[in-house]
Amino acid sequence: MKRMSNQEALELIQKADFNALGKRAWERKMELHPENMTTFVVDRNINYTNVCWVDCSFCAFYRHHKEDEAYVLSYEEIGKKIEELLAIGGTQILFQGGVHPKLKIEWYEDLVAWISTHYPTITIHGFSAIEIDYIAKISKISYHEVLTRLQKKGLYSIPGAGAEILSERVRQLIAPKKLDSQSWLNVHKAAHEIGMKTTATMMFGTLESDEEIVEHWEKIRTLQDETGGFRAFIMWSFQSDFTQLKKEHPEIKKQSSNRYLRLLAVSRLYLDNFKNIQSSWVTQGSYIGQLALMFGANDLGSTMMEENVVKAAGAKNRMNQAEMVKLIKDIGSIPAKRDTSYTILETFL
Ligand code: SF4
Repeated sequence: MKRMSNQEALELIQKADFNALGKRAWERKMELHPENMTTFVVDRNINYTNVCWVDCSFCAFYRHHKEDEAYVLSYEEIGKKIEELLAIGGTQILFQGGVHPKLKIEWYEDLVAWISTHYPTITIHGFSAIEIDYIAKISKISYHEVLTRLQKKGLYSIPGAGAEILSERVRQLIAPKKLDSQSWLNVHKAAHEIGMKTTATMMFGTLESDEEIVEHWEKIRTLQDETGGFRAFIMWSFQSDFTQLKKEHPEIKKQSSNRYLRLLAVSRLYLDNFKNIQSSWVTQGSYIGQLALMFGANDLGSTMMEENVVKAAGAKNRMNQAEMVKLIKDIGSIPAKRDTSYTILETFL
């Protein structure tokens, strides 16, 4: 199969017939997933702290160290959340925080060790590139050392959060203090080199151009060629409520469902070395989330027992396992509960 060029991707984004594009993305998905299953994972987000110094203008979640609503969860609070997750058959925690200015590697090692010792059946999918980058800086050690030390304590994989758009122009506008594109890629590469899988993400709908979206895809496709370490690609649209970015740029418009589905379909065709693409029902709502399965997505992501970050910016969608199973059956696909590594745990015929 001939690899899609950047120019072809751009033309598809801008000119493709919507129906024909969806059909192509669906066909490509079925080539990769002929078993006709749609997967999901039962997990919960745990945002262990909302303290963050990075001040991304698109983020409504963070607080500064001394603000009233700033928190760092105690072990007991984290344990209670994990027990609630275990009670509904959950297998994974998406464990992320703000970037706390004071916490060093030893604090994270103790925390990960405590979770994995007390809850050995729970998979810790946690700490995005910006957290790893800062832990390395404040602890004066390399990415490899941070990741190896956390892996030894029980960290299984890292999420792709913080990629936003991997273009310096956009990052300077929306998150100038955040790590640059190359550092995001370097963190993921370092993880892949020690055998730790990760996911790749993209947040669109701020100030990027179509060319910059394709530039983002090119960077992750190139790293995937090199390492094969990305398990999945997940994209969502900017949720603007209560964000500084929206105040500074009132011209930013809510992204349409059509735009989301169009980009999703092109990503399925362009990212030819990614087996799994998730539908973002949390930002798009359950019905567009379902339609995304007809536009190239093969996975509905997580049941999201708790989500704080996009909720802080106005996204209020919720779904439980029974609803997910129904949505998947509705499109004639077989619902399948998976674990973090995409191994099927249970199907719902
Ligand atoms: S997006 Fe993450 S890094 Fe940026 S301000 Fe929010 S919590 Fe901090």
